[in-house]
Amino acid sequence: MKRFAIAVTAALLSTTALHAEVTEEMLLNDAASTQDVLTNGMGRHLQRYSPLDTLNKENVENLVPAWAFSLGGEKQRGQETQPIVHDGVMYITGSYSRMYAIDIKTGKEIWQYDARLPEGILPCCDVVNRGAAIYGDNVYFGTLDARIVALNKDTGDVVWNKKIADYKAGYSYTAAPLIVKGLVITGNSGGEFGIVGEIQARDAESGDLVWTRPVIEGHMGTLNGEESTMTGTLNATWPGDMWKTGGGATWLGGSYDADTDTLVFGTGNPAPWNSHLRNAGTPTDGNSGDNLYAASRLGIDPSNGEIKWHYQTTPREGWDYDGVNEVVAYTDRDGNDRFATADRNGFFYVLNREDGKFVSAVPFVKDISWASGIDENGRPIFIEENRPGDPASSADGKKGDVVFSSPGFLGGKNWMPMAFSANTGNFYVPSNEWGMDIWNEPITYKKGAAYLGSGFTIKPNYEDHIGSLKAIDPDTGEVKWEYKDEAPLWGGVMATAGGLVFTGTPSGEFIAFDDETGDKLWSFQTGSGIVGQPITWEQDGEQYVTVISGWGGAVPLWGGEVAKKVSYLNQGGMLWTFRLPRQYASK
Ligand code: CA
Ligand code: CA
Repeated sequence: MKRFAIAVTAALLSTTALHAEVTEEMLLNDAASTQDVLTNGMGRHLQRYSPLDTLNKENVENLVPAWAFSLGGEKQRGQETQPIVHDGVMYITGSYSRMYAIDIKTGKEIWQYDARLPEGILPCCDVVNRGAAIYGDNVYFGTLDARIVALNKDTGDVVWNKKIADYKAGYSYTAAPLIVKGLVITGNSGGEFGIVGEIQARDAESGDLVWTRPVIEGHMGTLNGEESTMTGTLNATWPGDMWKTGGGATWLGGSYDADTDTLVFGTGNPAPWNSHLRNAGTPTDGNSGDNLYAASRLGIDPSNGEIKWHYQTTPREGWDYDGVNEVVAYTDRDGNDRFATADRNGFFYVLNREDGKFVSAVPFVKDISWASGIDENGRPIFIEENRPGDPASSADGKKGDVVFSSPGFLGGKNWMPMAFSANTGNFYVPSNEWGMDIWNEPITYKKGAAYLGSGFTIKPNYEDHIGSLKAIDPDTGEVKWEYKDEAPLWGGVMATAGGLVFTGTPSGEFIAFDDETGDKLWSFQTGSGIVGQPITWEQDGEQYVTVISGWGGAVPLWGGEVAKKVSYLNQGGMLWTFRLPRQYASK
């Protein structure tokens, strides 16, 4: 009798998941469900806003560490993950394509997965990973050798492992995958190697490709294993064969707006950086040299991968102003459904949610040099003499005129996500005030080699600060308050209904600001620079906040004079979880 009972239990265990399955409906409701964090962006609109107010302005001073978790090993480097929380388990990704499942009550490791990376991977901008996705009984993440891996969420066992693209040609993957209606949807990285940006949708259960959509005109998409349609019109905005290695890496992944049933992906710089090699006409020839759809935002039909709309932030881009930054869906104070996005190029854009059409744009950093503004059609008003010069018109043909450009190529804002607060109606934008000397050089494409045709060095614009967290009113563009940091900000932002705005600094401070005044209400020193993304959730009636600490990312590798300025910062790799003890919760 006893033996029989044990057998039955074993059979149950082998067929029943330890933790509940994650459904499409749970993903759809993620922003409102406070006991979990199931999507990158804390909800599909990417607002990074929690309706929790247990923790608030009055009691945040009582927020204390609950546990910390070390990523261990010698593999430190930048830690940019956004944790996922589901059914008592936290899932994080780490540098060098690692993933961990952690008990959220104790901080104890449940399992760890280390991807075996081949020699010769070509990540441009540190060995980071920005987070996982969860669906059904699987968790998903991308690896530096441009693969997407599905792991069983309870055991960490590999369910499937698929190739996104050839790492030897410069492809890699660092963004959090996106799950929509049973599809796992990914972009790609490698815009500095002359790759071609693409979006791929796979069946989440099997990993089989459903559709692909290259984002550079002239390339063919696929649907169910067959060619579907060409992206754009061949040679409409690209000269000769330049489109074949045209860049447009979709390296920050995308989002899904359920209200309009549209995937939204951003695309990186056209390749190479030297814009004179991509000019199909003169600056006055309409859009013949725009290099679509690089440096753009794209609206895509999730059922077949067709492009529904596009908005190009920087036509014939020539400063590495990747157009990948996150597009946040929100409703403005007049009830209009909008998108907002803060571009590398220094402008904060509002777009119409239905069709991606331009609504307005304002600068969110000072000293923009490449354009004097954005016209009523959403097209930049270029200052042509501030475009880096054409090497072909220099005396020896080897180096074009050097110009000072602001923002620098790492952008007025880079990948680090902003937050939108339903509490104040404002955006909280992590930005940097810096510029660069930049010049162009001749270049030809070679597989797996850097494909820039440019040289550059980044410089601070101000003596006392580079980093600038700004509270911006999206209706007027007015900056309500600003926090300045001497180092470049590289971490994500989160807002809460408790009136708090959280972010971290390169010196390791994890800070809670007052969302209306910008007053610093609480901070905690995490021991290494913060370039990760905070989250909050509720467990057993208490509110928790988590952020990862671990300095790195693109700044130490590419930051020129700025990198020297911040070379004192220590590396790390520690996940910190904070809790407001029950007795301090004021209701
Ligand atoms: Ca949730
Ligand atoms: Ca780029």
